[in-house]
Amino acid sequence: KKKAESYKFEAEVNRMMKLIINSLYRNKEIFLRELISNASDALDKIRLLSLTDASVLDANPELAIRIKADQENKMLHISDSGIGMTKSDLVKNLGTIAKSGTAEFLSQMNDKENVKHDLNDMIGQFGVGFYSAFLVADKVLVTTKNNEDSQYIWESDAASFSIVNDPRGDSLKRGTQISLELKEEASDFLEVETLKNLIRKYSQFINFPIYIWSSKTIQVDEPIEDLEDEKKEEDKKVEGDEDAKVEEADEKEEKPKTKKVDKTIWDWEQLNDYKPIWTRKPADISDQEYNEFYKALTKDRTDPLTKIHFVAEGEVTFKAVLFVPQAQPQDSFNRYGTSTDNIKLYVRRVFITDEFTDMLPKYLSFIQGLVDSDDLPLNVSRETLQQHKLLKVIRKKLIRKALDMFKKLDPETYKKFWAEYSTNMKLGVIEDPANRSRIAKLLMFQSSSSTEPTSLSDYVKRMKPKQDHIYYIAGSSRKEVESSPFVERLLHKGYEILYLVEAVDEYTLSSLPEFEGKKFQNIAKEGLSISANKEKTEALKTQFEPLLKWLGEKALKDQISKAEISERLSDSPCALVASMFGWTGNMERLAMSNAH
Ligand code: ADP
Ligand code: MG
Repeated sequence: KKKAESYKFEAEVNRMMKLIINSLYRNKEIFLRELISNASDALDKIRLLSLTDASVLDANPELAIRIKADQENKMLHISDSGIGMTKSDLVKNLGTIAKSGTAEFLSQMNDKENVKHDLNDMIGQFGVGFYSAFLVADKVLVTTKNNEDSQYIWESDAASFSIVNDPRGDSLKRGTQISLELKEEASDFLEVETLKNLIRKYSQFINFPIYIWSSKTIQVDEPIEDLEDEKKEEDKKVEGDEDAKVEEADEKEEKPKTKKVDKTIWDWEQLNDYKPIWTRKPADISDQEYNEFYKALTKDRTDPLTKIHFVAEGEVTFKAVLFVPQAQPQDSFNRYGTSTDNIKLYVRRVFITDEFTDMLPKYLSFIQGLVDSDDLPLNVSRETLQQHKLLKVIRKKLIRKALDMFKKLDPETYKKFWAEYSTNMKLGVIEDPANRSRIAKLLMFQSSSSTEPTSLSDYVKRMKPKQDHIYYIAGSSRKEVESSPFVERLLHKGYEILYLVEAVDEYTLSSLPEFEGKKFQNIAKEGLSISANKEKTEALKTQFEPLLKWLGEKALKDQISKAEISERLSDSPCALVASMFGWTGNMERLAMSNAH
């Protein structure tokens, strides 16, 4: 027999476990979700390998999760026939913090460490991972068998861990069994009903069968004779032959040959109907189901703002479900373009990856969802798949469908959408030339006509009969632009002006050449001409020529490029105007503030 080797947890892991135990104690039950989710990940991994090498399943062709409560020993076992772990996997995966879910949780916790009561609000949003097992267990045993190694037992009491070669041999064939020695106060998790409810709550969208070891009472027909015979056999010994024979004869005549008997049997009961939701008809799926699915997919605790579920046909056939979360993570623009997007890719119901970075463009990276296609090859590497030409087609359709989904929102929901994602849409105009005009239809801006933002098409509808430009001015606030001298004359004449008061607004419009055939005119740039009286302007030009000359060539020589008679002012005597192709004052202001 080999001796167990002892290890210390990485310091971060200790910190992590303390945090989990101190902050999640009211949410102990999530341990089950985490362990089932790990089992499902491990099954995904072996299934993915099997696509290029079927022999990896030889040891055990079944892909399933099994849960068994052992009341007598107060143990709970969660097993899967997934990829399993080699000895070095065990040390790395269950001894360090390298793993994504846990690491993310930890960094979020760090930010909030001093606001303890917020922690419980955050729970559920993160995969806190394997270590949550210690919420309910004093001791955790992980028995695991990977195809590349023999079977090991990892054991820990949360202080340190040990690994030993399993003396029972490779009994698991392949996969992992997590065995929890439950704490006294966690004994509720030995109740099959409790477990069933939790699995229904947290794991209904796991795409592998989940079985639970459970008992049921059934009625069986038991042959009465046999029973009686046995009884008689025993009776005989006590009472002797003759009486028994008489009795037997009597009963044969009077009673039926069988009777119903309650019998308790133990067996594996399958809990989830694991037909993936996206393969079902949208008409058969309730909003409630979509919401639950969204929450299981994203770990978000709030319902999505909206969703779209569709089948695309044509060059490539695929099914997709896309969700818009109510809110995007607060730091999403700091990470803009650096994180992977949130689209899970399936090929023929098999989960392939959620790590492709270009299923959607950056400006749509807030969208959560999945794509499942029968037309992509299953038996190629992820790298090869990522290059597949059909992915481009899928991406194109996903963008269209997403924009369509936004367009179809009712005004109330659109308002919420716009409040959260306006910057994304404005960046979309800049980043996605192919869909520029589609996105433009979604844009909203502040305007002189109302305190509520307006869409461009509503602006165009309100344009004066001979107005051929959409007027706008940019600045740092509504108040600032409203009091600008450029605005007054246009307002005076009854024109509507868009107020671009968000940093990105002006850049967005400069990548948008026109909207519904109307060009944009920055009223702070030269080139603005509004039904002027030519003769009057000419007369003014002559009258003020000496002043203009003096201003442009002497007094303000180094500050301005020229001085002109303006058509755009009514009350103010003068204004500084940007040249047609130069930066506007607002752009300079932004560039300056970015530089600092
Ligand atoms: P995450 O799931 O976010 O990676 P966890 O803490 O839940 O983080 O799990 C840590 C790692 O341990 C996993 O990434 C995986 O490599 C390994 N692991 C956990 N459970 C299993 C399992 N049932 N089968 C195989 N590997 C597992
Ligand atoms: Mg996990």
